[in-house]
Amino acid sequence: MQPTPDSPLAPQTRLVHLGRPARVPGGPLNPPVELSTTLHAATDESGGADAGVVNYARSGVPTWQALEEALGDLEGGTALVLGSGIAAVGAAVQVVLDERAGSGRTPVVVAPAHGYSGTLGLLDHLRATGRIDLVSVDPADTGAIVAAVDGADLLWVESPVNPTMEVTDLVEVCGAARRAGARSVVDSTYATPLLQNPLALGADVVVHSLTKSVAGHSDVLLGATVTADDGLAAALHDHRTRSGAVPGPFETWLALRGLRTLDVRLQRAQENAQVLAERLLEHPAVLRVRYPGLPSDPGHEVAGRQMRGPGTLLAVDLAGAREAEALAAAVRVWTHATSLGGVESLLERRRRHSGERGTVPEGLVRLSVGIEHVEDLWADLAQALDATAR
Ligand SMILES: *Cc1c(COP(=O)(O)O)cnc(C)c1O
Repeated sequence: MQPTPDSPLAPQTRLVHLGRPARVPGGPLNPPVELSTTLHAATDESGGADAGVVNYARSGVPTWQALEEALGDLEGGTALVLGSGIAAVGAAVQVVLDERAGSGRTPVVVAPAHGYSGTLGLLDHLRATGRIDLVSVDPADTGAIVAAVDGADLLWVESPVNPTMEVTDLVEVCGAARRAGARSVVDSTYATPLLQNPLALGADVVVHSLTKSVAGHSDVLLGATVTADDGLAAALHDHRTRSGAVPGPFETWLALRGLRTLDVRLQRAQENAQVLAERLLEHPAVLRVRYPGLPSDPGHEVAGRQMRGPGTLLAVDLAGAREAEALAAAVRVWTHATSLGGVESLLERRRRHSGERGTVPEGLVRLSVGIEHVEDLWADLAQALDATAR
């Protein structure tokens, strides 16, 4: 992450400074939490309502705009913050479907066979209610994705994939989507805006669950879309106002506060993840370690090209559901809980959730690596893995 001529400050510096009020003597360093739902009205010169003035909080308040300014800068587009990651997913899908409305045929969506279960649940619902045709692809098979986008309207990509950690070649598949006239959306939650910038790799829209690493403390539910396409940006904004999938002011303020420390949290957690992945490879109870930071990982080479680091998530395959649940039950420093990206290390067997796809192994355990001391994390994992053999 080197400073560039048109952006002389590095992202690590920008995320500390973006979205702050003007430097006014006696003024605050941080944006205020704006709690008014109703704002003063204005009249323009012709005596009508001044369209440039926001009059109600569903259209946008300053606390949201501070976070949007920061995220938009980091991803290279116009950011829109929504009430949750899945609200951002839903908004991105809806605006692409709206673009295709009136074509007289059912839109075709290409999506990974497994991925974030909430997203796949939403796409399943749209298919079950006759609003899309869904084509499932192996997220690691670039050729299959490129072939599938021919005739498609929307390519949905998650990279790395939750929870199976495949890495999709974004330049290849987003380029193929563009040539085929399809929109591409990349859920980049796992990578965060610091480790990967999908718009620069050819995506039309990037989606984040800010609930995860950006907010970073497992206490905020929030999402965002970012796009460099002005038409899509306007459509996403209108969708948020119309659907009411708006964020709360405290949540946006907390997420901006989390963003300030994202780089240092990521560095520590990523170092921890690399050490743990290497040691897990050697443990007899572990059949497979999924982490793009490992040279043996199928996604290693592509991740090296499109990411600035392999991230803080990994997964291990144990022999089966019994062993995976035994691991989760035996940890003491790690927490057995869902979600990811917080300062505390979490793990869970994903197939315990009925929404998880059958292509995710029964014995797969997802690990969200936190910022604790790596030796404490390893000692706890090692004793818990040993316990699975008993
Ligand atoms: C958690 C998650 C989401 C959904 O975000 P919420 O904030 O929980 O609504 C979407 N995509 C991925 C990859 C996630 O991990």
